Amino acid sequence: FIFILFLGNSLVSLTFHLFNLHGLIEHFQLDTMKLRRFLVMVQEDYHSQNPYHNAVHAADVTQAMHCYLKEPKLSKSLTPWDVLLSLIAAATHDLDHPGVNQPFLIKTNHYLATLYKNTSVLENHHWRSAVGLLRESGLFAHMSLENRQLMESQIGDLILATDISQQNEYLSMFRSHLDRGDLCLENPNHRHFILQMALKCADICNPCRTWELSKQWSEKVTEEFFHQGDIEKKYHLGVSPLCDRQTETIANIQIGFMTYLVEPLFGEWARFSNTRLSQTMLGHLGLNKASWKGVQREQSGSADDVDPTFEEMDSDILPQEPRLS
Ligand SMILES: [Zn+2]
Repeated sequence: FIFILFLGNSLVSLTFHLFNLHGLIEHFQLDTMKLRRFLVMVQEDYHSQNPYHNAVHAADVTQAMHCYLKEPKLSKSLTPWDVLLSLIAAATHDLDHPGVNQPFLIKTNHYLATLYKNTSVLENHHWRSAVGLLRESGLFAHMSLENRQLMESQIGDLILATDISQQNEYLSMFRSHLDRGDLCLENPNHRHFILQMALKCADICNPCRTWELSKQWSEKVTEEFFHQGDIEKKYHLGVSPLCDRQTETIANIQIGFMTYLVEPLFGEWARFSNTRLSQTMLGHLGLNKASWKGVQREQSGSADDVDPTFEEMDSDILPQEPRLS
């Protein structure tokens, strides 16, 4: 959380710096010109007109991923290969995001929805776009074909894990491992699974930041949702959940998001890595939720109006929340 990110060159500068910091350039004998060119292509493939899913979000997720990789529980088991894949996956995880969600692509018969058979449409596209740029840049042309193929498929596993509609499956698996205490980070499969969980955390960690920062991200993502809703209204496509500026508020959306997705995920992450960073993130999360509840009270006069949309999205991750019978 050290870097202050500006629009412009943040993704290139930050990722290049992290490659250097982790000794990846030396270890993998990377050509720095090719690396820079690859990162510039990645940055340019993000849509700067998207309020939220742009290169600054990618840089922010890459930065958060770096912080999680440094957590003692994980850092001592990580290989340079793991760090390399994690940083590339974080930097590319939303590549060429169109600023609308999967239901929108499906209902407008977008070619990507057809191509990926309506399943993790965006995530598959981000991954395949990343593979395209990796090949085009020739950054790893000096590696064996076998290693390059392994890299492409493992980056895919990481990016596909960021599909929020699959969170239930990942979280149940994480919880079971933690309950049984059987995670062995010497095992590459277990390590890879933890990297998937780390990237999921990095992707949705905005509510775990200080209020001022968190609030700005919340406004950006809502702006993108509402923009989609406006298009859906204009073309009579039926407004998607969370996208109607007439009926939704940032506070409602954020409280639902935190309750059903962020709190369960970070609760388990803190069980895995119970450090000052995890506790600080949970602290901010609690404070931010209380702040949004304050905003909600001011706006509606009722406090406990939790948006059920996220619950419908992922209904089995709610053991912490009281439910109406
Ligand atoms: Zn993202």
